Amino acid sequence: MKRTEIKEILQCTKYGTFINVKGWVRTKRASKNVAFIALNDGSTIKNIQLVVEMNPENDKILNHIHTGAALSVDGLLQESVGSGQKVDVFTKNIEVLGEANPDEYPLQPKKHSLEFLREKAHLRFRTNTFSGIARIRHSMIFGVHKFFTERGFYNIHTPIITGSDAEGAGEMFQVTTLNLSDVPKTENGEVDYKNDFFGKVANLTVSGQLEGELAALALSKIYTFGPTFRAENSNTSRHLSEFWMIEPEMAFYDLEDNMNLAEEMLKYLLKYALDNCRDDLDFLSKRLLDEEKNKKAEERSMELIEKLKFVLDNPFARVTYTEAIDILLKSKPNKKKRFQYVIKGWGDDLQSEHERYLVEKHFKRPVILTDYPASIKAFYMKQNNDGKTVRAMDVLFPQIGEIIGGSQREDNYNKLYNRIKELEISEKSMWWYLETRKFGSVPHSGFGLGFERMIQFVTGMNNIRDVIPFPRTPQNLEF
Ligand code: ATP
Ligand code: MN
Repeated sequence: MKRTEIKEILQCTKYGTFINVKGWVRTKRASKNVAFIALNDGSTIKNIQLVVEMNPENDKILNHIHTGAALSVDGLLQESVGSGQKVDVFTKNIEVLGEANPDEYPLQPKKHSLEFLREKAHLRFRTNTFSGIARIRHSMIFGVHKFFTERGFYNIHTPIITGSDAEGAGEMFQVTTLNLSDVPKTENGEVDYKNDFFGKVANLTVSGQLEGELAALALSKIYTFGPTFRAENSNTSRHLSEFWMIEPEMAFYDLEDNMNLAEEMLKYLLKYALDNCRDDLDFLSKRLLDEEKNKKAEERSMELIEKLKFVLDNPFARVTYTEAIDILLKSKPNKKKRFQYVIKGWGDDLQSEHERYLVEKHFKRPVILTDYPASIKAFYMKQNNDGKTVRAMDVLFPQIGEIIGGSQREDNYNKLYNRIKELEISEKSMWWYLETRKFGSVPHSGFGLGFERMIQFVTGMNNIRDVIPFPRTPQNLEF
């Protein structure tokens, strides 16, 4: 018989229909005359309840059914007597597809810690939290493509292996086929990359931006959505060694257009989640309340749905870096040296604690910071006339800190060339990037949204390791 997915079954009220359902057992409880099995197939966070009549044949089968087992069940759809669901399935024939020995199966029908589940990443999809996050991730990926498609953007695949190290010098993963225990050397004793696979140094990309710009300067509006890799040794709850980034790049957009697009996109995605992932969000909201129930009131986060709606309904604050430094210098935690990094003055880089202070304590809504000192930003950002700041914009979110980094790009050949020289970036490896400023250069802008940070915000998950199925972080490459 053809299988019906649980999501569909739960919406069906054709009682008496004979159906087949397949899935994994979440719980089993038996009373005198019947047993109840909660079955989940991942199509929705909700389970279907199986009602099993106690008789000698079923008793035998029930002995093989425990949390985690996979079943195929034929039965009759019936109006549920229990509360919580409209329908359940009165079983006629149960086939155990795969048993799960309760002495060995690590997921029991009780609450497990997120740390424990990280060590069981091969099975954590089978929990409500992680299947919910997986469904939300999918919806958000679809929402991203929908948003850009509706606005005439083209999706571009930029390379994963790159020969340029302009942006990520020092924090890139090298790609090589050289035999590391017998590395060929030049006369000077340096590694001879002529013998390596590409005949030169190769790395995993830290961003698709530079190549994205090339496409934007012909197609007008493009976006990339790909994996990026950073070999930075930062063990935080917001950094992964492998993460996904969405990078739109637009010709004829100035910084203001760029900010407007970023704000519109973030709000679109939040609305998309609220409209399409409500069951999973409701569950995650309860999870968060439960997780924080022992915290003091002022340390608790806003209720999840309320938080998403709040960001959706309020304009982001827009301030310059210079204004932000003033605010921080005057702030209590800075004066009382309660920040880990105390702000000394103009030119200091902002840490996540400062970003979160601005968002959570001062402005009490997302903030777009613009016009940072050139010295703390990348070489390609458009230089302002003041000779010291660049047209950068970072979008800062509650709980997360920086969620987007972007800028208007330097479109003047000489200014870009001089900046590259100044920073001692290899001009030879950047010739193709520079040429776009020589031939038909136009003002253009773009930004990068860290997809996992967005998912963290939407799901309320504290640790970025819990919003990607298989997190890569320093010293961690299981699964
Ligand atoms: P941060 O200061 O938080 O390390 P960044 O300045 O290095 O961020 P960008 O290089 O501007 O970040 O990257 C663009 C976006 O990618 C960031 O705004 C963030 O959302 C995301 N991002 C950056 N690094 C990581 C990482 N290691 N893991 C996950 N997401 C990241
Ligand atoms: Mn970083």
